[in-house]
Parts: sequence; structure tokens; C-alpha cells
Amino acid sequence: MQQAEIVLRGIVQGVGFRPFVKRTALKHNIKGLVENREFGVKIVAQADKETIEKFLDDILKNAPDVSTILSSQIEFIESYDKEFTTFSIAPSRKEGNVSALIPPDIATCDICSQEVMDSGDRHFSYPFTNCTNCGPRFSIIQSIPYDRTNTTMKKFIMCEDCKREYTTVADRRYHAQPNACPKCGPELRFVEIIDKEPTIIAMRQEALDTTIDILRKGKIVAIKGIGGYHLVCDAKNKDVVDTLRQLKHRPQKPFALMARDLEVVQEYCQLSSQEEKMLSGQQKPIVLLQKKNQELEHIAPGVKNLGFMLPYTPLHYLIFRHFHLLIFTSGNISEEALENRDLSAYEHLSRITKYYLTYNREIFNRIDDSIVTYVGNQRILIRKARGFIPKPIKLDEMQVMPQIFAAGADMKGSFGLTKHDIFLGSQYLGDLGFASNSEFYEESLGYFKSIFGMEPEVVIADAHPNYFSTQFAKEYASEKELPIHYLQHHEAHIYSVMAEHNLQKALGISFDGTGYGNDGQIWGGECFIVDKNHVERFSHLAYKPLISGEKVAQEPWRMALIYLHSCCPDKIGRLIPASKFPQRDLLVHQLERAHTGIMTSSIGRLFDAVASILDVCHYNTYEGEAPMKLEALVDVTYADSYGYEISNGIIDPTNMINEIVEDFIRKKPVEIIASRFHFTIARMIYDLCKKMSAVSNIRDVAISGGVFQNSVLIHILKNLFADTEYIVHFNENVPPNDAGIALGQAYSCLLKEN
Ligand SMILES: [Zn+2]
Ligand SMILES: [Zn+2]
Repeated sequence: MQQAEIVLRGIVQGVGFRPFVKRTALKHNIKGLVENREFGVKIVAQADKETIEKFLDDILKNAPDVSTILSSQIEFIESYDKEFTTFSIAPSRKEGNVSALIPPDIATCDICSQEVMDSGDRHFSYPFTNCTNCGPRFSIIQSIPYDRTNTTMKKFIMCEDCKREYTTVADRRYHAQPNACPKCGPELRFVEIIDKEPTIIAMRQEALDTTIDILRKGKIVAIKGIGGYHLVCDAKNKDVVDTLRQLKHRPQKPFALMARDLEVVQEYCQLSSQEEKMLSGQQKPIVLLQKKNQELEHIAPGVKNLGFMLPYTPLHYLIFRHFHLLIFTSGNISEEALENRDLSAYEHLSRITKYYLTYNREIFNRIDDSIVTYVGNQRILIRKARGFIPKPIKLDEMQVMPQIFAAGADMKGSFGLTKHDIFLGSQYLGDLGFASNSEFYEESLGYFKSIFGMEPEVVIADAHPNYFSTQFAKEYASEKELPIHYLQHHEAHIYSVMAEHNLQKALGISFDGTGYGNDGQIWGGECFIVDKNHVERFSHLAYKPLISGEKVAQEPWRMALIYLHSCCPDKIGRLIPASKFPQRDLLVHQLERAHTGIMTSSIGRLFDAVASILDVCHYNTYEGEAPMKLEALVDVTYADSYGYEISNGIIDPTNMINEIVEDFIRKKPVEIIASRFHFTIARMIYDLCKKMSAVSNIRDVAISGGVFQNSVLIHILKNLFADTEYIVHFNENVPPNDAGIALGQAYSCLLKEN
């Protein structure tokens, strides 16, 4: 028998960590205690050495999702004075949480949700019930240390019962900063806009009852959640879904769904154990799940997946006593910033609804729902926000670790800051081309800097001269007299994977929609050999003229025309009839003149072109629509490839386009053509790796960029690379899309400084 002292640092307080340690100790038959300390958590464990090591291993592997263990230390002591007979949670040595790291918002725990449903409990039917293991965190924390007085709960003075819970060491609500009950905490209000005036028409339970009534009548209600407003309506009522589509200007874009429980989700989707775990865990993101029938086709027309989440606040549980399935889509106007303040929501969302279920606590940090998808066991983050922010990412320790401000990119705004070996990325900030989002960016940067006590010493931004984030970074650097670096967009994508996997060298495959290239062209089909700071652009998709500018990304038929014109102009008449596309001949005319404008090597645009050639999608009414609809047709077991050539640094897809056109004209099923196209892209990546490793001897492959949000493509890639000499790395903790750029920028900056 030995005693060990284990010290864990990171986000380990206010996230349900101590009960987790206790459960794990009981499982391993360990005696001792766990306590919160100013540096994190300390565990005293008594058992034989091997058991204690297994116990620690279990803790590190299975820690709560919202926690982050940045370091662990273990020290064995042969002789000790006290023998423990149980394992207990000891009183905290220090009041509050002095760690500079703050936890993400945590979905309501099982015990709290049971209390809310229990008519004998004093929290019965109370929508703001929480405890030390669950509840709002990041969204309500105004400054550090994380104490009630530094949150938007400050104005609610705890009643005697709440205070007792808060100060009783053995209580589940001991130091639960947002602790509240119907007597003392926030309360619901139902607001209706009457003659342009927001008018409170019901309070508390009555407000909830009114909401349920209005939802049942097939209306849309804006409901204030943890990080902002949702627009909510009955998912099965096609009329109200249509109305929402019209009012939100989303003719085709999938809506997120909230289901009462897993059983409801299983009526519509297949669920793996990983997906089930993520759906019902502490983070409760939207999980993209493969449809198993067409019953909810009107929610997500023509795509493979439905986006589901489960209730994550007591308010959601109370609403779902009356419903099985509701649309819960972000409360914003098209791509503008999420609404989090009542008055602003009444003003901006009034175009969509006059009904609001709100409450009298402020959301300090707005934060959208996260979106996650799985390929087997591999997680792909599509949107990193609630439940995942502000979890730090640990970087490889290097000689010089300056504080870095990495400005990110514009299409999916997200900046990052580093301090020592920790990278902190902001929440998803939307398209920074919109003023409300760029304001959000500045607001969030100010917050992150102050909360984490950061003062950047060096700045890095995207090389795109017209990005908001680049211009902002430039001004920031010049104002503070800091050095600034610029990094090419797709190189940053590759560095983001290298950062996650501690790589100094890699073969980089960056397939993406749009990014400013070092030669001034629009890149997006790039293969790099990366050796620390040296990047060689080994190969890229053949340039095509980018006529009609930004419209090309919105209207895939234009890209189809560009490809057809260069590969098989005789097929244009058949595939892009002028009767259907009146502007066609104008474009053909432009293509026939010598092109002096911008060129593109974007693979994202190649997917668009193929989707249009196959008559799957000619107009993107939302970002990624064409490739998502193409992906939906793919059979991943199909393994046959179209032709292409790779020589002199150019990937030429002419043969592929010609064969696709032939197959289509011969009426081969589009499912087969789409499958073969996807397999060809995977095969192309494999060939590129072979060529790059032949000259570099590198076997680590880093794959990133917006194209790799396509889970079908990743599935095919993983099969293709299995049992080869290559180790293929993907993003796991940041999205492969532009929201992952900041991490890549920061890592490249560190490599530069060292
Ligand atoms: Zn709880
Ligand atoms: Zn109370």
C-alpha cells in the first residue's frame, strides 16, 4: 500500500470534476480525498502503486468533457500517518476560483434536471436551476476571479436557502456561483411586440405556459437561451417552417433541431455510441447525424444529415415536457451576429416574430451552439462555440513563448491568443464582412485579453490585404508598436493541424473555398511541403479564370461553365442551356477574351462545378450547399477513379471533367458519378502525398481546409490511407474551416520566433 499525491492543473473547478474523481476512485477501490486548491485540484490516493497509476490514467482519459487538464503530477510517498477508510470530497482550502482559466457553459446535469421535474423540490419548474456541476459559466462571467459578483448574477441576492447551499461544504451547490431558486433568482418574462412596443404580457410560470401555447398554435417564438436567442417553432408543422424560411431568408439551409431525448432522435437518425455520448454529454452541441428516413426532409432538404441537439438548460427541459421536436435555430438575421440583448433582439428579430420568452439576467458573452460531426470515432468540429469555449489548447513547449495575437480569417471569424504554452481561441464570430460581426470581434478580443490577462507581444494575420481581421491586426500592431507577420491562408490551415499534433514537418493538403494566394490569385487546392517555417507550394489545382467575381461562389453554374469552356466547350449548350441561364452567353464571351483578371485554384469551386454539371445544385443559397448536396449522393464503398494529371506542380482535372460529362450524358446515375468524383479527390490526395514524400521523406500528412468538413470525403480518405506508410492528421480541437486559421497562425508565429 502506498500514498500518492496527484496535482492536476487546468479547468478542473466548477465543471463537475471532484464528483468525477470520487466516482473514479470508488471504481478502482481507492481511498483518500480530492480537494479544490488555488492551482487546480489535489488528490490524495491510497492503494498499491499499480492501482493508483491506473486510477490516474482513467482520470486523464475520461475527464469531464468541459474540463481541460493542462498538466498532471504524481508523487508517491512510502510512509504516511493517516490511513483513509473512504474516498471523500474535502472542503476547499481557498475560497472561490483563482485560476485564470474559466469554464465553458455546461449543460444541466441529471440531478438538477430531476429536481426541476420534482414537485416536492424547491427548484420545481424553476428554469434557472444549476449547481457546481452545471449551468452557465463563460456566458455570464464579466471578469475574474470567477465569483458571483463578477457575473451577471450579481444583482440577484441569494435567499437563505440558496445561501445555505452555497456555503455548505458538503452541498452540491457549494460555491456554485450562479446558484438560484424561484425565490431569489432570475425569472421569465413573455414579451409581445404590440404596436411596435415590447410589452410584458406574462411572468414566471405563466410566461412559460404562454410560450407553450403560442408554439402549439404554430407560431415562432424567440427564446433567450444561454449564449443568445433561438428562433423556435414546431419542426413538424410545415407551414411555420416555411414561414421561418421566408422570414429568415433561408430557402434551403438546414435548421437545427432540439429533440426531447435520444429516443426521439433515433426516430430520424442512426446513432453511433460516440454520437450518443456527445449528444447527451456536458457540452450538448448540435450533432450532425445521418438521416435514416425522409420524414424531416423539409428541415434539411437534399443533404445527408440532420443537426440535432438535446435540451441543455432547465428551461429547455420544461418546454420539452410538452413537445418532442422543435426547431431551435440561431436568433439572428441571416449571417448577422447572434442576438443576446433583449432590446436589440426586439428590434432586429421583430421581422420574424413578435413573441419573446426572455428573462431578467444579462448574457454577457454571446455564444452560439457548437456543431460537431463524426467520421467513425473521429470528431470534426464544424462550429466551435458553446461548451467548447474557452477551453485552452496546449501547445508544444518551445524556447521562446511570446504572447501572440493571431487575428484569424474573415469568412468564419475567430481569433486566438497565446500565453506561455496555452492557446485560447475565441468563440465563432461569424462572417466579419458584416458590421455586427466585426463589432463582435472587437468586443470579444477586449474580453479575452482582460479575462486572461494577456498583452500580446507579436501579431499575426492572414495575408489577404482586404480582410477586416488583417486590417484590424495591422492597426492594432501599429498602435501598440508590435511586430506583425502575415501568413498565407492555406499555409495557416496546415499549421493548425501541425499545432494540434505537435508536428514540425508535414505534407500539407489544404483544400478550401477561397484564400488569398502569395501570387495575388485566389488559392484553394494547395499541396505544401512544410519544414518548420519553410513552405514549398509543391502542387496546386490548375488555375481557372475567376470571371464574375464573388458571384462564382454563389452560383455554381458559373464555375461549371468555366470548367466546361476549358475542357469540353462543345457540351456547354447541352449542360448549361441559355434558356435556363440567360447570362450564359455573356460569360462565354468573357471567357473567349484573353483573361487578365484573377485566377483560382480552388477545390471548393471544383465541387461547385461538378454539382452543377450533374444538375444537383446551380445556386448556393447558403455556404456549402452544392458540395453538401453532392456529398449526400455518395456511396463510400465505391472505389473507382476518374483520370487526372499531376505534373510540373499542376493538378490538371481536365480528364475527370470530360469523363464526368460523358457519364452524365450517358445517363449514368448521379450517385455513381458523385461517388467516383469523391474517390478521385481522395486518390489525388494519395498520389500527391506519394510525390511529395518522394522528394521530402516526410510521412506525416496534415489535412485541413473547408473542403474537409465533408465527412464522406474523410471517410474515403481514411480507408484509402489505412495500412499505408503515411500518418494522416486532421483537425480535432479546432474546425478545419476558417475558424481554425488562428491556431495555425499562432503556431507558425511560434516556429518563427524559435
Ligand atoms: Zn446541476
Ligand atoms: Zn434562492
